[in-house]
Amino acid sequence: MNIHEYQAKAVLKEFGAPVSRGVAVLKAEDAEKAAKELGGPLWVVKSQIHAGGRGKGKFKESSAGEKGGVRLSKSVEDVVANVKQMLGATLVTIQTGPAGKQVNRLYIEEGSDIAKEFYLSMLVDRSTSRIAFVVSTEGGMDIEEVAHKTPEKIITFSVDPATGVMGHHGRRVAQALGLTGDLAKQAQSLIEKLYKAFVAKDMEMLEINPLIVTTDGNLKCLDAKVSFDNNALYRHPDIAALRDETEEDKAELEASKYDLNYITLDGTIGCMVNGAGLAMATMDIIKLYGESPANFLDVGGGASKEKVTAAFKIITADPNVKGILINIFGGIMKCDIIAEGVIAAVKEVGLKVPLVVRLEGTNVDQGKKIISESKLNVIPADDLDDAAQKIVKAVKEAA
Ligand code: GDP
Ligand code: MG
Repeated sequence: MNIHEYQAKAVLKEFGAPVSRGVAVLKAEDAEKAAKELGGPLWVVKSQIHAGGRGKGKFKESSAGEKGGVRLSKSVEDVVANVKQMLGATLVTIQTGPAGKQVNRLYIEEGSDIAKEFYLSMLVDRSTSRIAFVVSTEGGMDIEEVAHKTPEKIITFSVDPATGVMGHHGRRVAQALGLTGDLAKQAQSLIEKLYKAFVAKDMEMLEINPLIVTTDGNLKCLDAKVSFDNNALYRHPDIAALRDETEEDKAELEASKYDLNYITLDGTIGCMVNGAGLAMATMDIIKLYGESPANFLDVGGGASKEKVTAAFKIITADPNVKGILINIFGGIMKCDIIAEGVIAAVKEVGLKVPLVVRLEGTNVDQGKKIISESKLNVIPADDLDDAAQKIVKAVKEAA
């Protein structure tokens, strides 16, 4: 699960990490009070969306002005004007895709005077089974580009969970960032706090870009992007409460209500499959025959008719779906349950695209019989290969 920058900073602050003072604003009327409370003389008005690259982003609406999604402001009036322009407008960044994201929340912060910008992130490194730090002097920039062009400028190390962060880790960070004296001590203290926060809150990723040195000689987390391990959310109700459903993919959100393993993709063929392995194989074979999957969907082992109906509706609601492939290997999952669920869904929402169904395994004959008696316009298939070829052909013919 992802959270907004202002929420991430509040979490980091709990652990003593240095962040700017700020006020989150959901209504333009609240901007003036917030700006006055912070006091100035410099403010930053920051779009809160679950995507990076906001500073260099562009708003779609001309009414939002030419400037990006992170705006320095030098007076209360300037803050208010920026809030009015940005709130409700759609920001397009390299991470949002061309459709952009509507800005429904802004964060007004006291502005910092920056001497240097660094990069610092943490993630779970599966190859070492440890939490890894990534640091670089090249802050404020696209880290992928730094990794590509000047990989020697990126320093990574991982921390032994038995010892936690030690003095040598801090010295490593200080050396990598060229920090000495008091700033080196601040770096040590910062990574200890970040490590503690990361472990305590079951984070998956934490990115501070930029981590700055202020002109008065202090380290500060100027940006913060945090994601959490969904499987651990049950033990962090405070974090779970930060969820902003308006930022999430609508289909994925709907699927999560039915406990379906669903991920939206950008292809044309909607897939309904049971078992993650079979779902992957189905996606691969669709690709092999020249089309792309519109989603990953594993309905799971013992899905009910209601769950199958919900899954089918989610697939058909996607305007990119030009054909549907149902590929079920009935083990615990019974083919007749799948058939009933699909028919119930079609009765409700109709069927406007070709549908190929391949059933095998438990209760396969009952399943096939239910579908054929329903008089649904279904193209039956015998095996995975046959099914993929048939749906690709049907979609190409319909195009
Ligand atoms: P991002 O573009 O989504 O990564 O948003 P950031 O929070 O990283 O802000 C983008 C850029 O705005 C930063 O890299 C800084 O250069 C600038 N910026 C953000 N906050 C401040 C601030 O308090 N003072 C100054 N001078 N610049 C800031
Ligand atoms: Mg940033």
